[in-house]
Amino acid sequence: MYSIEEMRRTIERHAIRLTPQRLAIVEALSKYPGIFSVGDLQRRLAISNPDLGRATLFRAIDLFVRLGLLEKVHREEGEDGYIVGVTGHHHHLICRICGDVRHIDFCPIQKEIDEIVLKEGYSDSVHRFEIEGICAICREKSLKKRKKEAGSGS
Ligand SMILES: [Zn+2]
Ligand SMILES: [Zn+2]
Ligand SMILES: [Zn+2]
Repeated sequence: MYSIEEMRRTIERHAIRLTPQRLAIVEALSKYPGIFSVGDLQRRLAISNPDLGRATLFRAIDLFVRLGLLEKVHREEGEDGYIVGVTGHHHHLICRICGDVRHIDFCPIQKEIDEIVLKEGYSDSVHRFEIEGICAICREKSLKKRKKEAGSGS
């Protein structure tokens, strides 16, 4: 996951002005280890930056996605989320309950994809996919809850 410093450097390297608003967004992003929506980010920023409008936020997020600082993550349910990016080809394992995201830093299907692409006469392929599941912490919590419910019932 990119640090504040790496995000700042990337923005400067692209000759993009780091406005106070963009800096506030970068700082807020560095505190997010998990998946978030634009609404989540807006709520986080509302107290320290009440003037930050939704349109500005959307534009900044769009810019950060183009720079690779943020990654858009498709979710089976609800709106698409964002996470702070990492470099290199990778995939995500996402907890559908708490939004915890693990970066899987190797590709389990690269070989199969290369074969398909080659067979069809294509080149320069890209692909992405996400894996959703329930993380160990959430599974533990739901097990405890179920045990408690079963206990109080008798
Ligand atoms: Zn990622
Ligand atoms: Zn979880
Ligand atoms: Zn892959």
